[in-house]
Amino acid sequence: LLFLLSGLIFIVLVMLYRRYHSTSIIQFLILNAIKQKHLVPYYQSIIDAEKDITCGYEVLIRWETKKGKVILPDEFIPQCEANGVITPLTFQLINTVARDIRKLEMQHGKTLPYYFSINISASVLQDPELIEITRSALAHYHIAPHNIAFELTERSPIDNIEQAEQNCIKLNAMGIQIKLDDVGNGYCDFLALQKLQATTIKIDKVFIDDIDSLAANTIVQSLVAFADKAEVEVIAEGVETKQQAQILIDLGIRYHQGFLYSKPIPFNLLANDKNFNV
Ligand code: C2E
Ligand code: CA
Ligand code: CA
Ligand code: CA
Repeated sequence: LLFLLSGLIFIVLVMLYRRYHSTSIIQFLILNAIKQKHLVPYYQSIIDAEKDITCGYEVLIRWETKKGKVILPDEFIPQCEANGVITPLTFQLINTVARDIRKLEMQHGKTLPYYFSINISASVLQDPELIEITRSALAHYHIAPHNIAFELTERSPIDNIEQAEQNCIKLNAMGIQIKLDDVGNGYCDFLALQKLQATTIKIDKVFIDDIDSLAANTIVQSLVAFADKAEVEVIAEGVETKQQAQILIDLGIRYHQGFLYSKPIPFNLLANDKNFNV
């Protein structure tokens, strides 16, 4: 029995050690990746399907390792949210995106009509520093507030709604639009839509995948009806086929995002994109 018990204690100790150790290793690696600028924005078009033009881009982060491997955000964003590293990561991203917009404007010799929508986790939306970071990035790179938008992921709930609300009021006053992400598939709370002054809802891909089923179609219809009443725009995400696009257009959804139109691409490809009709 004593033998079994000490074996058990040993296993528990090893598990605790590995758990503690592995989180701190990941935290170290990510902080280092931030410092080395290995976390880079990719850009995916958002299309106005009525006019068949690009109206904005979603910024999707990628971790480019030294060996040339590209790590997708699902592999590290949840850890960053859990250990707080998401804040410095997002603040650096805001600056990188502002710098990229500036580069595009210099390259084309004019201001851009597009928005670049950056994903913001709940904890970052509640951070009072977000306002100053954003304001100074805009000022430093001389870019207009309509070039930046924030999309709030609904993967985690907002615990300090008052602080988030304060931030959104300030962002709104600065001219920065707020979009609610993954609507229908998260902690979507329609009160949040109002409190956070959101101008747009993004309908989650799971509903678009099944848009030809009665259940998903009905949910999407009710989201569209709701958006009309609330006077907010709708973006459908994860549009992969022409059939889906047509059903969405028939449902009155004008803004689409998905592999049918474009995949997320790095900045150098974006800058040379022939669809980038400025
Ligand atoms: P999301 O915000 O829902 O982003 C959309 C995801 O769907 C992206 O995955 C995009 O590449 C993918 N996608 C777009 N169109 C299609 C399509 O037609 N088919 C399929 N199969 N997928 C499509 P990605 O880039 O792997 O990002 C995953 C999630 O990571 C994002 O989901 C977002 O929640 C999070 N994320 C990405 N970048 C950031 C960031 O900078 N900050 C934070 N906080 N979260 C981020
Ligand atoms: Ca998003
Ligand atoms: Ca989304
Ligand atoms: Ca999603």
